[in-house]
Formats: sequence, structure tokens, C-alpha cells
Amino acid sequence: MSDAFFALETELAAELPVGDDGAHDMAHVRRVWANARRIAQREGGDIGLLAAAVLLHDCVHVEKSSSLRSQASRLAAERAAALLAARGWAAERVAAIAHAIAAHSFSAGLTPETLEAKILQDADRLDAIGYIGIARCFYTAGRMGSALYHPADPSAAHRPLDDRAYALDHFRAKLLKLADGFQTATGARLAAERTRALAEFVGAFEAEIG
Ligand code: FE
Repeated sequence: MSDAFFALETELAAELPVGDDGAHDMAHVRRVWANARRIAQREGGDIGLLAAAVLLHDCVHVEKSSSLRSQASRLAAERAAALLAARGWAAERVAAIAHAIAAHSFSAGLTPETLEAKILQDADRLDAIGYIGIARCFYTAGRMGSALYHPADPSAAHRPLDDRAYALDHFRAKLLKLADGFQTATGARLAAERTRALAEFVGAFEAEIG
């Protein structure tokens, strides 16, 4: 089942972006594939199509702080479609892959219409929560120059959340709520498990800083 992904990864190696963002590198893409495969084992879906969609879902990278951020998944979908069409993939599969990629991100504001698009969105979001999500959150905060937390009011009891300024705020602003928006039953179950890890982390972290 994994062969479709790794064969395609080898074939497209020269086309895949090599940036310096450790939260959106090939290790991320491979984790998303592991999540997608796990969800597809229960939910079904076209594995070859899903493998291509996962491999190319971040093939145009835009920094989180960039004003082009909301365009990133559309740009990735266009580039993926061009790459696959040039390799002779059927137009209808190319269109299905482009839809899944365009609809996967939050900022795109599109609804995933197909099972593969739903699985890609769930698989990518799973990588934002749980222990890996905690690591990626602080890593990205470091790249943006954010502080770990507000020194006087870490839990934002008496101030609005500001997850650009404080990494810990990103848990309440986004990560702890992410599990509510999952598209598949299997994705939602995995998301609930990972959200428990997030909640435990926030509680223990705040207890340590006092
Ligand atoms: Fe991603």
C-alpha cells in the first residue's frame, strides 16, 4: 500500500521543494502519508490518487507569516496538476488531486468534496496536533520570533489571545479546537486522542511555570 507513495516520491524527487522549514519538510509529508494510509485503511479511498495528493500537498511553500499564505494550497494544486499532467496522468485524476490539494488547508476556505480530499485534510491536520503538533507549534513560533508565553498571564485569563506574539496562545486559539472540524470518522477519532495529549501538555506546562 505504501509503494504508490514512495515510488512517486522517487520519481518526483527533483520537483519537491527543499526549504529550510522543519515543520513543512519531507518528514512532514511522510507523516501525513502515514496518517492518510491509516485513515484510508478504515475509510477506503483511491490510494494512488491519495499518495499523489499527499506527496504534492505542500509543493509550493509559503511562510506562515507571508501575505500569500491563503494562496498556498491553490498554488500547490496548480503546480501539482502541471507536474502530473506532464507525466501523462489522466485529466480526471489530475483534477481530483488538484481539488484535494486546493481544499486541504484552513486558509483556503474551500470544502473538501471527495473522500480523498477529506482524508488529505484530516491527515495533514493530525500532524498539527498531538506530540508532533506541540513540537511543530514551538518550532514555528521560533521561526516567527514569538515568545513561549505571556509572562504575566500565560493562560490569557485577562487578555485577548495573541498567537503571533505567544506560542502557548496558539493552543487555545487553534490547536485545541482543531479536532472539531475533522472530515472522516477515523480522522476524528485519532484527532480526539491527540487533543488529549495537547490538553495534558498545556495543563502541565502552566503548572510548571506557576
Ligand atoms: Fe502539510
